[in-house]
Amino acid sequence: MRKKVIAGNWKMYKTQADAQEYLQEFLPQLDETPEEREVILCVPFTDLAVMSRNLHGSRVRLGAQNVHWESEGAFTGEVSAPMLVELGVSYVVIGHSERRQYFGETDETVNQRLKAAQAAGMVPILCVGETKQQRDSGQTEDVILKQLAIDLEGVEQSRLVIAYEPIWAIGTGDTCESKEANRVIGIIRNQLSNSDVPIQYGGSVKPDNIDEIMAQPEIDGVLVGGASLVPSGFGRIVNYS
Ligand code: PEP
Repeated sequence: MRKKVIAGNWKMYKTQADAQEYLQEFLPQLDETPEEREVILCVPFTDLAVMSRNLHGSRVRLGAQNVHWESEGAFTGEVSAPMLVELGVSYVVIGHSERRQYFGETDETVNQRLKAAQAAGMVPILCVGETKQQRDSGQTEDVILKQLAIDLEGVEQSRLVIAYEPIWAIGTGDTCESKEANRVIGIIRNQLSNSDVPIQYGGSVKPDNIDEIMAQPEIDGVLVGGASLVPSGFGRIVNYS
């Protein structure tokens, strides 16, 4: 039975004070959440320590949004896997399209980050997905298969989450049809040696489309950006029916 994994990605939003205020409204909503659902908040590095303290004793797992592949060194501005683990981080988003698009992330560096995260005991959430232009020119499958081939080289699939995030659907309000997301996720699953890897959909997930998305048989969860910033909205997403 594949695990249901619901993750919020706060991107570069929320100070520590905002984060504490958020939890006051968000955490009580989890009283209704079925036990088997994994709930994760992937927050800016500066929020990790305060989140770690405030999530102690709750069922929410703490996630980061990136990790460097070396455990230490002269890499100004980077954060290593042991540093995250010390703060209680158990998941880390790797290869998000915003990192690939704006910060020169490549499949080769994604692969190194995945291995470093796993070596330190974290579960990476690997993001893959096509641009609008790639979709329109019929390259969706080729693009994703190439990403997976390089990204997953030497990666342990028993400790992994994958998020299918069509880039054209991220932050645009333009959700991928749930049946199409289901189809692509099925293709991703066929490429894996471990069919139990949870595969999420991400891209403009909201309280009003979550039930339909989660009704799809291949979709094991969601990675939620904008809508995870509002505690009541993310509560509704976590408590999808
Ligand atoms: C994301 O940040 O991974 C994401 C899917 O964003 P949004 O939900 O805002 O489209």
